[in-house]
Amino acid sequence: MAGEAQADCLFCKIVAGEVPATVVRESATTVAFRDINPQAPTHVLVVPRAHYPNAGALAAADPRLTADVLRAAAEVAAQEGIDGSGYRVVLNTGSGAGQTVFHVHAHVLGGRGFEWPPG
Ligand code: C5P
Repeated sequence: MAGEAQADCLFCKIVAGEVPATVVRESATTVAFRDINPQAPTHVLVVPRAHYPNAGALAAADPRLTADVLRAAAEVAAQEGIDGSGYRVVLNTGSGAGQTVFHVHAHVLGGRGFEWPPG
């Protein structure tokens, strides 16, 4: 069923507390935790508790949960103090774009400058 936890999914295991993570914010529908390989002074991942493989699948299945993820990303940015200077929210979608974990996650990056286009 759409959204069901997947036994082989790392982020489902983090949501379930089976794999440790440094959680910085939680809601009824989302969990935010620090990336283990940070690419900026602030690098937090926001995931929905429910399993969807990528942003498109999430948006198609559950627009309200999609909004929860984006709202949580903004709340994390405010909590981390990076909302004033600007921050980046990244949703890598597909292996060609750099997605390595197929449980949708929003990267919240800040605390340094960014370039456009991204690498
Ligand atoms: O967008 P992508 O799928 O590549 O992002 C996955 C992210 O998950 C990476 O930035 C990686 O460092 C992070 N990660 C993590 N904790 C793990 C495994 C991966 O924060 N245990």
